[in-house]
Amino acid sequence: MPPFRIPTGARRDRVTGSQVYGFVKCEHSVWLDFHGDPAERLPHSAAVERLLEHGRDHEDQIVGTLDYREPAYPVGKFAEGADQTRGLLEEGVLGVSQGVLFEPPFLGIPDLLRRVDGASDLGDWHYVVGDVKSSWRPRSDQALQVSFYSELLGRLQGREPPYGFLILRDGSEERFSVADLRPVLKEVLSELDELLAGESRPHHSWACRECGWRDTCSSDPDVHWIPGLTRSEKRLIAAMGLGGLAQLAAVHTDDRKMEGSVVSEATLERARAGARALIDREAVRVRPPRVPDLMHPLQAGVAYRDGFDRRLLVLARRSLGGTTVVHRIERAEDEDAAVLAFAGELAEGGTVLHSGSLVRAIRERAIDRPETWGRLEALDLRALDLMGLVRGAWVFPAPVSLPTDALAWFEGRAPATEDRLALYADERDFAGLEELARSELDALDQLADRVVGVPQ
Ligand code: SF4
Repeated sequence: MPPFRIPTGARRDRVTGSQVYGFVKCEHSVWLDFHGDPAERLPHSAAVERLLEHGRDHEDQIVGTLDYREPAYPVGKFAEGADQTRGLLEEGVLGVSQGVLFEPPFLGIPDLLRRVDGASDLGDWHYVVGDVKSSWRPRSDQALQVSFYSELLGRLQGREPPYGFLILRDGSEERFSVADLRPVLKEVLSELDELLAGESRPHHSWACRECGWRDTCSSDPDVHWIPGLTRSEKRLIAAMGLGGLAQLAAVHTDDRKMEGSVVSEATLERARAGARALIDREAVRVRPPRVPDLMHPLQAGVAYRDGFDRRLLVLARRSLGGTTVVHRIERAEDEDAAVLAFAGELAEGGTVLHSGSLVRAIRERAIDRPETWGRLEALDLRALDLMGLVRGAWVFPAPVSLPTDALAWFEGRAPATEDRLALYADERDFAGLEELARSELDALDQLADRVVGVPQ
């Protein structure tokens, strides 16, 4: 492990796997874990709570099939938990669930420690680390977390575990090399060390939507809270003395401050519009939307897939102002036929307005199926990412991805923060997904009126 100092005055004295995992998502959230006031942290939304509950159920199910031991120690007494875990490993038990690996300031509590053959300081055996995940496919942040645990385990048993593993939603096991991830882990830990020793600023992104620190981060907004700018653009603008929203909103590109600036005029214009969007809590137009030639009659399309396994769950379309057709794909084996039928239906009409993911989702499914390429090509030619067009022309007070988000801002409302799509996809709640698809098609319809502004 690289040298690591917990800064004086920090509110916690341990680095856990959650921080390694969280650092990849938003480094400022980890900084706030150490320096923020925990009382300001918001509880999980009902949707996130349900997703977490599903994850715990899945973990219980997997662990329930294994005859593993679990250390029992008083709450928070991790040194005791670590002693017990070491005792179980020295005994050579088949496996340990929720074992404690503690080498202050690092604390790891992996779901699984599994005994495998091969000598170590423990005896003729050693252990490897695994985590149980609700996702259908492995993610790099999950592997990094297991790599963190593996590093701690390697030091305890005097032998680096040859691999780490993830048990996925369908019960399959995904292995990866711990040695391959070590350089990344070292880099993350040293960046984390540097981050905690200094100051940090928020970065407004999708991750903020369900983050417990969002009230803290948005309480005193400045240039760092403007969505759609990169971290370095924000730093440069702040370094020009334009960090405050009021100053930024009032700046003119021919101001003396702009002389010799490395920030482009276009970026500064977006930043200025972003400052106004945050002050007035409304969408601000930066330029006219670039509407390409359209083919009539206009139609709208939506594709929802499971965020974890990429499987398509719902496809929906509508001729604008007309009736809605929804394909619910309840069985994976029906996916190909539904995609083919849907692409064919869309190829019959004019320009297809969508919110960005439609063509990508269909292309992913069609790539290995030459019989679909003709229809896909026809769809590609007539697809228009309406949300891309909207984001290019307006700046919003928060990141927007769905047409319902953009429409809410245009109508003077803040969009809902709860990610119902992820929940419904996880629960395979087709009625819920269909309801979302219908409201997204409604919003595309209304955005088309507002943005594209052409007769249908
Ligand atoms: S609200 Fe956003 S910037 Fe703030 S900690 Fe959470 S994810 Fe990071």
